[in-house]
Amino acid sequence: MSRYDDIICIDCDGVLRDPITNGEIPFARESMSLLHRHGWRLICLTANDVALVNTWLRHNRLRKYFTAVTNVKPLAFRYIDDRAIGFYDWDQEDLFDLTRVLRP
Ligand SMILES: [Mg+2]
Repeated sequence: MSRYDDIICIDCDGVLRDPITNGEIPFARESMSLLHRHGWRLICLTANDVALVNTWLRHNRLRKYFTAVTNVKPLAFRYIDDRAIGFYDWDQEDLFDLTRVLRP
């Protein structure tokens, strides 16, 4: 077991916080509570100001579930991110479907 095998990195915007309303994404607290109770260490990753995210997490009673809030991608067993594409290999079709859809 490596030192990050029990860590799940959770993206903030779009996963915990709705960037349009500034509200909590439905069931975010219940989900963080469940992962925390199952022994996962949770790290919140943000591209925004860490202090502002800490304040938002505290205001929404979510901060207690996280061992850290960072703007530097940490080592983790898994990452939960609303913008991610799961990678398996370069033959997977959805990678190329997406590049076609997003082509300017
Ligand atoms: Mg996001």
